[in-house]
This record gives sequence, C-alpha cells and structure tokens, in this order.
Amino acid sequence: MRGREQQRRRFVVVICCTIMVYGMAFSLSLYRNQTGDELLIHDVSRLFPERVEDIIKGKEEEALIKAVKLAEEKQLKISIAGARHSQGGHAFFRDSLLLDMTDFNDILSLDTEQKLITVQSGVTWADVQNYLNRYGLAVKVMQSSNIFTVGGSLSSNVHGRDPRYGPLIETVESFRLLTADGEIKHVSRTENEELFELVIGGFGLFGVILDVTLEITDNELYAGTTEKLDYQEYPAYIEQHIKNAEDVGLHFARLSATPESLFEDMYVTTYRTLTPDDEHYPEPEQLEQLYLLEEEKHVRRDKFFLGLARNFDWGKQLVWDLQQRLYANEDAVEIVSRNNAMRPPVAFLEYDSDNNTDILQEYFVPTAQFPRFVGLLKEIIEEEELNALNVTVRYTPEHQEGFLRYSNEDTLALVLLIHHPLSDEGIEQVRAATKRVVEAVLACQGTYYLTYQTFPTNEQIRAAYPEIDAFFCRKAEI
Ligand SMILES: Cc1cc2nc3c(=O)[nH]c(=O)nc-3n(C[C@H](O)[C@H](O)[C@H](O)COP(=O)(O)OP(=O)(O)OC[C@H]3O[C@@H](n4cnc5c(N)ncnc54)[C@H](O)[C@@H]3O)c2cc1C
Repeated sequence: MRGREQQRRRFVVVICCTIMVYGMAFSLSLYRNQTGDELLIHDVSRLFPERVEDIIKGKEEEALIKAVKLAEEKQLKISIAGARHSQGGHAFFRDSLLLDMTDFNDILSLDTEQKLITVQSGVTWADVQNYLNRYGLAVKVMQSSNIFTVGGSLSSNVHGRDPRYGPLIETVESFRLLTADGEIKHVSRTENEELFELVIGGFGLFGVILDVTLEITDNELYAGTTEKLDYQEYPAYIEQHIKNAEDVGLHFARLSATPESLFEDMYVTTYRTLTPDDEHYPEPEQLEQLYLLEEEKHVRRDKFFLGLARNFDWGKQLVWDLQQRLYANEDAVEIVSRNNAMRPPVAFLEYDSDNNTDILQEYFVPTAQFPRFVGLLKEIIEEEELNALNVTVRYTPEHQEGFLRYSNEDTLALVLLIHHPLSDEGIEQVRAATKRVVEAVLACQGTYYLTYQTFPTNEQIRAAYPEIDAFFCRKAEI
C-alpha cells in the first residue's frame, strides 16, 4: 500500500514539475522578440524561406503597375503575398520582387439590392465582415477563419463550411487583373473568360488580382448543435441531412487525434437557419447583442492547452477530453449569427518556435470513399509517427468551375494539423509520410490541396491534377 502511495506521489510530482517547466517556457515564448532580415521571406509554416530582391507595398494601383513594369525592365520574377498563410514556401520565388498586397485593402462599394461587394484584393475577410455586419450582410464563401486576404483566397480558390456552396469561384462576379506587361484586364464569366478559370485557383501565376466583386448573403441567425457519429456512417449522414438541405448554413466535423483513440470518435456540428417561429428564436432584446461581432477570447489559455497537446500525448488526451465535455450535451443549442460563426478562434494557433512548426494539409475524397480514406490515413499516421494535433472535415458539393479543380464531385475534405521539427530530418519525415498519404488519397480517387506544401512528387501532382501541364502551357502562352 505504502509503495503504491509513494508511486502515486512521485507521479504527481513529475506531472507538476513537467507542467511548471512547460509553463515557464510557455510564458517566455509569449515575449519572444522577432528580429532579422526583412528580405528573407517565409509563410506561416516557416518552411523553406526565400530571399527576395525587394518588397513593394502598394497602397495605390499606380504603385503596383510601376512595380510590375520595373520587374519587367530588370528581368525580375514577381512573387505576390497576401496574409502568407499558404504553407510550404512555394509562393515565394528567390530574388524576385515581392508585391505585398496587404495595404491594398479598401472596400470600394456595396450594392445591398444586388448583394454584391467590391473590395481591393489585400483586404482580409475580417475587414469585409466588419463592414458587412453593419448592413445585416455576410460573406457567402470564405475559409473557416477570417484572417486571410481576398486575393490570396481567390488565388487558392478556397472553400468554407457552408455546404450550400462549392469553392469561392462560385461567388465571384468579376475582378480586375494586372498582367505581367502592366496591362489591366477586366475578367468575368463573359469577359476574358479563360482568365476567370485560370486565375481563380491559379496561385498568382497569371497576374495580380486588383479588385474583386463578390456575391454576398444575409447575416442569418443559426442554431448550432453537435452530435456524435461513427465516421463510417458519415457519407450516409451527409446524403440525408446536409446535401441540398437549404436550412443548413454551416457544417463541419471533428475527429479525435489522440494516439489512444485516433479517429475513433467523431462529432458533427451543424448550424441551421432560425426563423422567428422556431422555438429557439431569441427574445427581441437579445437580438442586438447576438448580431454584434465577437472578438476572440481566452487566446493565452487556448495557446497554453495547444502547447500541451503539441508536447505530450497526455496533453493531447486532456484537450480532447475537455473538447468532448463541451460536445457531450447533444441537446445544447448555440444561437449565433452567421458572421460570428464564420470567425471562430484562430489567434491561439499562432506559433513561432525556432525548432518546430505546425503545418496544415488537406485531402479531398469523394464522399463515399471517406471511411476507406480515414482507415488508410490512420495507418499512415500511426506507422510514420506523425504528431497530428487536430483533424476536421468539411463537405463541398459538386462544382465544375476553375481550371485547376481539387474536385469535380461531392467531396469530403479532411484537414490535418501536424506538429513537426523544423530540422532536416523532421521535414524529411513529413515529406515521406505526405507522399504515402497522397498515394492513399489517389487510391480513393481523391486529391490534395495545392495551397499547402510541395511534398508530393511530380507524378503525384499530375495524377491529382491531370490539367497541370496544360495549366503551365497556358501560363507560358498568355
Ligand atoms: C489556419 C488556417 C486555416 C485555413 N483554413 C482554410 C479553409 O477553411 N479553407 C480553405 O480553402 N483554405 C484554408 N486555409 C488555406 C488558405 O485559405 C490559403 O492558404 C489562402 O491562400 C491564404 O490566404 P492568404 O491571404 O494568406 O494568401 P497568401 O498565402 O499570401 O497567398 C496565397 C497565394 O495567392 C497568391 N496571391 C496572394 N495575393 C494575390 C493577389 N492579390 N493576386 C494574385 N495572387 C495573389 C500568392 O502568390 C499565393 O500563391 C487555411 C490556412 C490556414 C493557415
């Protein structure tokens, strides 16, 4: 008995010391100073930084035109940067002239009747939400978070969590494009239509997107609920409850990522539109508060817990247990506006350790192939000992626009957040594992998201994107 008590005490002391040491390191990390070479550019992953020749921040269109002409004169390549949340370093060309678009960020016009907004491409979704919220309006398609620029989002042809829409291209009415010769072209489905398909999802290869006119929608009120589901049943669930369900405003799922229960638990969250006759519709005096835009709270607390998950398996389990507690009450209903539901916490993800990084990867599979892919992915994560921190799933309906499409049919997209060392070995380990995951996704007739790392081989990219050679040919010709 005494031996067991001593053992228990020792265990508690070890855990307390570990938390103390981690807590001290965590506190110090909050006050780290970033210094360095301004021309050494990296994205949020800090993988493969590149040194550029110069950086130009254009607030005015003329400055951007001048920069493009200067690049032509000096025979420099151009790189374009929005919020730099693409990951893998492939957006930056060595010795290029970097156009930083983040100051080119005005909101130009709003047509409340037609529900159209025109913005400069360096504007972030957060800026757009702040503006639209005053008019009771909201974005139709954007990423799960709002920190990205509209230009970077168009260039990746992003998708979001509203299952009524496919990728962003569906909501783009037109845009203006600054081409490499300094010319400005108006692009829409009826004017320079080939460029419409090449530029959206074209990763900046066909010019600089200047301003964009986007369709917008109402800032609906939602009732959000979460339920537990076996991932094997997810395709049928999508078919019955999500696909073509006009009252579903947002939907996503989360899988467990702990070593003990990898992918064993899954929770699906759905936000349904509330009408005044619904039992959950709020009292009139609550409405004003509900429509106010919320700011992210508890950033340090959430950073602390994410840090535990990065460093310790028990930390990961603890975070998942806490999350599950939140999901446990299936009768709980969250009443939230569309704009607030489309700005979930994200600041706690910021991470700038010198030794490690967090990267995202995303794999798209036809809905019916989801269970098979989850099984294959589980095997690879376990065998390759990947430190997966978080796994979410989104549904994207069939769509046909865009030259480089990540899917042509109803798709479930699995988003993985992976923590790994920045050392050469750490990067090579993830590269090798990624190639295996891509092999698995191809076997399931799926694809991967080009916005993340360039780890897959040339054969793999050709298999996932059979149009890629034609895409590069058009780049050379236009
Ligand atoms: C935490 C996190 C969550 C994410 N969630 C989602 C999600 O829910 N759905 C999703 O689809 N994606 C998601 N992504 C990926 C993200 O949408 C893309 O990486 C997107 O491009 C980021 O926008 P950005 O402003 O950071 O663009 P950047 O990374 O700066 O640029 C992206 C590409 O666009 C080009 N570019 C930038 N501005 C312009 C311009 N004005 N004209 C022409 N080309 C330009 C760049 O050269 C680059 O090739 C997520 C990424 C992160 C880190």
